[in-house]
Amino acid sequence: MIQSAKGTYDILPKDVYKWHYLESIIKKTCELYNYKEMRTPIFESTDLFVRGVGESTDIVTKEMYTFLDKGGRSITLRPEGTAGVVRSYVEHKLYADPNQLSKLYYVGPMFRYERMQKGRYRQLHQFGVEALGAYDPAVDAEVIALSVNIFKQLGLKQVKVAINTLGDSESRSNYRKALINYFKPHVHELCADCKKRLEQNPLRILDCKVDKKHKAMLGAPNMIDYLNEESKQFFNQVLEYLNDFKIEYEIDTNLVRGLDYYNHTVYEILSNVKGFGAHTALGGGGRYDGLVEEIGGPNTPGVGFAFGMDRLILALEAENIDIPCNDDVDVYIISMSDKTKRYATKILEKLRKNDIKCEEDYFKRKVKAQFKQADRLKAKFALIVGEEEILENKISIKNMKTEKQETIDLINLIQEIKDRLEDYDDSKT
Ligand code: AMP
Repeated sequence: MIQSAKGTYDILPKDVYKWHYLESIIKKTCELYNYKEMRTPIFESTDLFVRGVGESTDIVTKEMYTFLDKGGRSITLRPEGTAGVVRSYVEHKLYADPNQLSKLYYVGPMFRYERMQKGRYRQLHQFGVEALGAYDPAVDAEVIALSVNIFKQLGLKQVKVAINTLGDSESRSNYRKALINYFKPHVHELCADCKKRLEQNPLRILDCKVDKKHKAMLGAPNMIDYLNEESKQFFNQVLEYLNDFKIEYEIDTNLVRGLDYYNHTVYEILSNVKGFGAHTALGGGGRYDGLVEEIGGPNTPGVGFAFGMDRLILALEAENIDIPCNDDVDVYIISMSDKTKRYATKILEKLRKNDIKCEEDYFKRKVKAQFKQADRLKAKFALIVGEEEILENKISIKNMKTEKQETIDLINLIQEIKDRLEDYDDSKT
């Protein structure tokens, strides 16, 4: 038997409602903040990710699905969403839009060749936003607030926001030098990746999962001490907005995020629900003012985030959040005999054309078994089509909850069902 490829999984019909729920909240909230959806290709030129994600990142060095296509081009399945959105923004000159700030969101699968474990897949799903075009701390705060609001709407409680600043390029470069000086004497004790990071991107040593308990981590220089005045002010303004919005956060000076292109604000949202791993990152983001230029566009500020949807579904399950599931049918049509089947099927199609969700029997079941099936499908009403009734232009309708059955004129069928469905829904609330 051929099985799904390692690191991938099927979302079965019984679970897909959870994804619809998550996607609907993402869409609703992004649109409330006036972000517009953008859909970019699943594969892009490999160069895009090498430049856009950063040559020294784990994603580019170890995790990309890269192959030559039949034309000899190097292609990569997208490992994240930002690079594609920024490429499209540059290619379509969206920066020339008089609205200036382009507020975009995306939802979809990403691909990373990673070691498998719970909550870590090779085809993962992310949603993210990118706000391109404004150097304003209000945008950083807006992006954080938007993500926090999505979590709130989902009903997730056991989450916390961690935030830090990497400062502007001057502050970051001073901090970089301080880190190199500090870690140089310890470098022989650090992992192979950190040995490379020391020269390429020493900030990422602070983020290393292998060396995180190394004693040198404790005394490492702190970014806050290397911020210039402008960077301090920028960070303070972001925090002030968050305070105004009543968003709780913790400042985590070791938070640097995996990608090379961040400056100023970086943040993460972590879940600490039991059974889900301690402080598992659900996602995060930050400011990346150099990225658009790196990808060939004009110098343009940007802020964004990306969250893992697979992990959000796990977090919803771990917090036992009741996800609305609307999989019952409105009407089940019961055919009393072979002779009425064609007539019943005609009615079935008519109901569907009138937005009534309905189903019938395809297995020549006996009437009793058809009622049983109606129950299994959680039908609200059963329509019973009998020969005599057809002759009289009538049909019987049974409320499956109260078991009350009546005969109605066929001519009024659609309106009668709609009225009853409305009363049925009202009786539930
Ligand atoms: P990143 O793009 O690496 O910043 O990841 C953002 C979020 O995507 C993470 O916090 C996870 O929730 C999710 N994520 C990243 N990699 C994976 C993966 N391999 N499997 C499942 N979720 C992932």
